Amino acid sequence: MNSAASSFQGQGPGSAAGLASGLPSELLKRRVESRRQTYAAQAASYMLSAIVLLLYVYAGTITVVIPAAFFLGGLSLIGVFAILSEMGVNDVFEDHHLTVFQVVGHVALQLGFLLAAPKIGYAFLNVVFLVFGVAALRMTPRQAAMAWTLTAIGVVAIFLMTHLPLGMPVATPAERLCAALCFVVSIGQCAFVGLYGDSLRQKLHLRGVELSEAYERIEELAELDELTGSFNRRCIMRMLDDEIDRTHRSETPCSIALIDLDWFKRINDAYGHPTGDEVLRTFAITIFANIRNLDRFGRYGGEEFLLVLPGTADGEAARIIDRLRAIIADLDWSAFSPGMQVTMSAGIASLRPEESSDTFLARADSALYAAKAGGRNRIASV
Ligand code: GH3
Ligand code: MG
Ligand code: MG
Repeated sequence: MNSAASSFQGQGPGSAAGLASGLPSELLKRRVESRRQTYAAQAASYMLSAIVLLLYVYAGTITVVIPAAFFLGGLSLIGVFAILSEMGVNDVFEDHHLTVFQVVGHVALQLGFLLAAPKIGYAFLNVVFLVFGVAALRMTPRQAAMAWTLTAIGVVAIFLMTHLPLGMPVATPAERLCAALCFVVSIGQCAFVGLYGDSLRQKLHLRGVELSEAYERIEELAELDELTGSFNRRCIMRMLDDEIDRTHRSETPCSIALIDLDWFKRINDAYGHPTGDEVLRTFAITIFANIRNLDRFGRYGGEEFLLVLPGTADGEAARIIDRLRAIIADLDWSAFSPGMQVTMSAGIASLRPEESSDTFLARADSALYAAKAGGRNRIASV
C-alpha cells in the first residue's frame, strides 16, 4: 500500500517515522472526528442516491439488484476507509483524508455501475461530479490532476471502447420523475458541499485569527528583556523612534533619561553576579511601579536603562527622574545583603525640533556622564 500511496504527492507517508508519532493526541482526535463526519455524510449521500434508484425499480427501468448493490457497494467502500481511519492508518499520511484514494474508489464504483446499468448511466455520472465537488475542497492541484486523469481514462474508455447505450430514460412519467429527482437531489448535495466549503473557510479564518494572536504574543515575548521584564533594547529603540516621529508631528515635548546604576561592578564583585541580577530585577520593577502608563522603560544594555517620557518637558522630566532616583536610593536593599546600597545616576534630554534619535541619545549620554562626574546618585540635564 505504501508504494502505491507514495505515488500521489501529498498523499504519501510523512517523513521518516511517519507523521502520526509527532502529532499531538488532541489533533489526532480532532482528525478522527472530522473523518467520521465525512464518512457519515458519504453514507447518507449513498442512501439518498439508492432511494432515487429504487424509484427506477418502481418505474420498471432496472431491477432491485442495482440500488441494493449500489448502496452496499458504497457502504463497503466507506467501511474500508472508516476501518483504516479507526486503526490510525490515515494519520501516517500527509493528507489524512486519503482524498485521492477516496476519489479513485468512489469514481471506480460509479463507473462500475455505469457498466452494470448503462440505461441510467447519467445517474452515476452525476455522482462523479459530486465526488469531485467534495474532493476539490481538499485536493492539491497535483492531486486534482492525478484524480482527474484517472477518472478521464475510465470515462473515455467506457464512452469510446464500448457500445453501451448510456442514457437518461425519460420515456414514461415515472422515469421523468426519477430523472428530475436525481438532478434535484444531486443539486441539493452540491449546495450542501458549498455550505461545507464555506464552513471550512470560516474555520480557516478563525485559525488565522488564532495564529495572528499567537504571533502577537510571541512578538510581545520577543520584545521583553528576559532578566528584568522591561522592554529590550530593540523594542525601546523602536518606541523611541515612534515617539520622536509623533513628537515632531504634534509639536509636543518629549524627554528621555538614560539611567545607569552606580558602581554596579562593585555590587557584582562584592555580592556575586546572581545577586547583581536580582538587584537589576528589583531596580527595574521599582522603576516600573513608579512611572506613568504612557512612559516607556527599557534595558539599553547591561545596567543601563532608557526611559522615554512622552509629552514631558525638561523641567517636569527632571522632577520625575529625581523622584525615581530618591526612591531607588531610599529603598531598603538590606534584604539582599546587610548594608547594601544601590543608587542610580541619570542623564536627561528633551527633544529639539528636527532632532534625530542619535543626537537625542548622545545628549542624554553626555548628561549621564556629567551626573557620574558630579559624584553619582544624581541627575543632570542638557
Ligand atoms: P558607574 O557608576 O561608572 O556606572 O560604575 P559601574 O561599575 O556601574 O560601571 P561599569 O561599566 O564599570 O560596570 C558595569 C557592570 O555591570 C559590569 C557588568 O558586569 C555589570 N553587568 C552588566 N550586565 C549585567 C547583568 O545582566 N547582570 C549582572 N549581575 N551584572 C551585569
Ligand atoms: Mg554603572
Ligand atoms: Mg553602565
